[in-house]
Amino acid sequence: MDLISITGWTAFALVALFGFLFAATFAIEQEKRPAVIAFAVTVAALAILGTLLLIDIPFREWIIPGLIGVVVIVGGVVALPRTRSEALRIVGKRSRVDERDAILHRFYRIEEGTPEFEAYYESHPEKREFDEKLRAMPGLAEPGSKTHDPVTSGFQAACFGLTEDLTRELDWSPAPMDGQKVEIDPAEAAMRLKGFARYLGAVSVGCTRLDPAHVYSNIGRSPGKWGEPIDLSHTHAIAVAVPMAHEMVRLAPDSPTTTETAFEYQEVARIAMALARYLNNLGYEARAHVDGNYRVMCVPVAVDAGLGELGRIGLLVTPELGPRVRLAVVTTDLPLKQDEPITFGVQDFCRICLKCADICPSASIEAGGKLDHNGVEKWQSQQDTCYRYWRLAGSDCGLCIKVCPYSHPDGSAHDMVRWLIKRNPMARRLALWSDDLLYGRRPAARYPYPDWHKKN
Ligand code: SF4
Ligand code: SF4
Repeated sequence: MDLISITGWTAFALVALFGFLFAATFAIEQEKRPAVIAFAVTVAALAILGTLLLIDIPFREWIIPGLIGVVVIVGGVVALPRTRSEALRIVGKRSRVDERDAILHRFYRIEEGTPEFEAYYESHPEKREFDEKLRAMPGLAEPGSKTHDPVTSGFQAACFGLTEDLTRELDWSPAPMDGQKVEIDPAEAAMRLKGFARYLGAVSVGCTRLDPAHVYSNIGRSPGKWGEPIDLSHTHAIAVAVPMAHEMVRLAPDSPTTTETAFEYQEVARIAMALARYLNNLGYEARAHVDGNYRVMCVPVAVDAGLGELGRIGLLVTPELGPRVRLAVVTTDLPLKQDEPITFGVQDFCRICLKCADICPSASIEAGGKLDHNGVEKWQSQQDTCYRYWRLAGSDCGLCIKVCPYSHPDGSAHDMVRWLIKRNPMARRLALWSDDLLYGRRPAARYPYPDWHKKN
């Protein structure tokens, strides 16, 4: 066998190995379109290569090395050493955000006929008409809504309700188990808290100094006296993320995705509360900030703690699971060794990707460039139109999370792409082109529902 044949058959074996690995991964994930495309492309490539190797056509000795050379050059370029990624930029003065400006405060806290309700709309008359129209529509999964089902709607209600019951009162006090505060080194404290959080089920966790700009200025939706200024003197924070199940998120915008949201908020609240209670047991002040009961904004704290980057989607994009996570934060007066913010190409990838903006049925995701929002250069989503779509759909939608290329499930094929995306702009362009080819700009509308969540 000559050198060309040996090289050619080696390439044949590698194409077969990687091509069928990708096709099998997609088939296991029940992703029909990418599985079929990966299988067809692999078979076509093998047929061409096999024909060239078996039939003695003119210029064979040039064509085979030429084809292999092109693949090696493209592979080499995308795998070039990692280039420095752009970070989120602070471009001006940041002021604290009033929790009453978050849309859910208007629909889950203030009630018609109360002084708070009147006070809010007197200071925000421009919101009244929009909100009245939404209040006339059924709530998420309530009777009359698109997703309501007498049997399955209870799942999300159970999880949200339980979280609300457990998290109403979170302003706990230190209660040292040995009667006095335990002295603990910041590095050891961070190591123990992160290990405990992972043991309890966190997929990622990080520590940071608490930036005062990330503390809400006034109480809005959360328990406590409505509108009261928030005075949180804690110096450090721990950000915790839990994964959302891919098989539930891909059913967006239907109710299983909301069930998953509700369940993971419950899970991450459980972890955050255990961490806060542990800190109390050591004799330190600590507060968990969880769904419906926040004094801080979780996403910027998680960015500072190195859990991920803020993407075009307006959510935290993590290296492991993209935006397919739910967050909670614990703040404390115990000094902790800080983690550094990370960059892995999200700002650049989001600039060219736009899949979340394209699929958003309410055009709530910015399709242009980043702008200065409260001193930070970023993409800002529109809460009002997003929530209006939630009421129309009867769920918390989640189409943007489902379509994000970073949201694909774990597995060697996707991990290989994640590794490539971090490297350089060429790799990101190739990864986006492949994602569009395999999954389409809009992912498949129909996936199998788990039996227990099928509607009657
Ligand atoms: S949740 Fe739905 S409506 Fe809201 S931003 Fe995402 S895609 Fe748009
Ligand atoms: S879908 Fe694309 S643009 Fe949107 S957050 Fe994900 S990577 Fe960024």
